[in-house]
Amino acid sequence: MASRSVRFLAVALVSLTAVAQGQHRAPRKSAAQVHPQSGPVILIPATVESGSPELIQIRAPYALSRVEGEWLGHKLQFFPNHDRSAWFSLAGVDVEAPAGPSKLTITGFVGTTSGESSRDLSLQVPIHPAHYRTASITVAPKFVEPGPEEKVQIEADSKVKDKAFAEASKSDKPFWSGNFLAPVKAQPTDSFGTRRMFNGKLASIHKGTDFRAATGTPVHAGNSGAVILAQPLYYEGNCVMIDHGQGLMSISMHLSRIDVKPGQQVTRGQQIGLSGATGRVTGPHLHWAIRWQGAMLDPAKLLKLNLNSLH
Ligand SMILES: [Zn+2]
Repeated sequence: MASRSVRFLAVALVSLTAVAQGQHRAPRKSAAQVHPQSGPVILIPATVESGSPELIQIRAPYALSRVEGEWLGHKLQFFPNHDRSAWFSLAGVDVEAPAGPSKLTITGFVGTTSGESSRDLSLQVPIHPAHYRTASITVAPKFVEPGPEEKVQIEADSKVKDKAFAEASKSDKPFWSGNFLAPVKAQPTDSFGTRRMFNGKLASIHKGTDFRAATGTPVHAGNSGAVILAQPLYYEGNCVMIDHGQGLMSISMHLSRIDVKPGQQVTRGQQIGLSGATGRVTGPHLHWAIRWQGAMLDPAKLLKLNLNSLH
């Protein structure tokens, strides 16, 4: 009953907004026109939603010596193709980012440091709401109401993770190259962004994609990078984090075995462990998450991005 009235209210609000903006705004299709895909800056995917990874491409009719940018409080890092006729940044919008207008600030620089001039390539980017599902899940009570000992462990884990996250943001060049590969040969579920209730109490957002994989399924690095964490954690179970450069990382959880060590370089497709059911789980699966500068992005959308020909 409650959820029905919430839904009705949401529908009513949307209709009211539509009426209020009806004179000025065409239906949803207009998104592409707001950030014209014919200009020097192109976003892929073109429709930007909460949780979307975004490949930002700049193809200016003049050679740029460097590019700076900022979006939703994140500093963008760009890298050029072989002749600097195109620049790229792999960024994204956090799953919890509110829908609405955003300003993508981009400055392109022409010339050398002695005689440099700048071009403003900024554009308005509307962020659309993604329509994520809700679900109820039952796990062992210790994962919903951890005791004093478990709380000590969770606190220690959070320090270890913060250290790993801080390390990842330091690199200024991408370690990845080409398309990201699925970490297991198994079907991904449509689970990213799901609003979940654990044991009817704890509400949280599912910030990764679950792959249906039996315990012992080989787990591979989605792309090249450096291992920055490889150890058991309370909720995550046996966990591996790979730094792909420029603040982008992939995280594999609930492994039954870890095959890599912190500091180790891995290549795309290299085995990093075996899937399992360690940590807070309802059964064996691989939870795979993509994090960019603290923003949690939809792994399924990253897998669909064509990054093979950035030249
Ligand atoms: Zn999961």
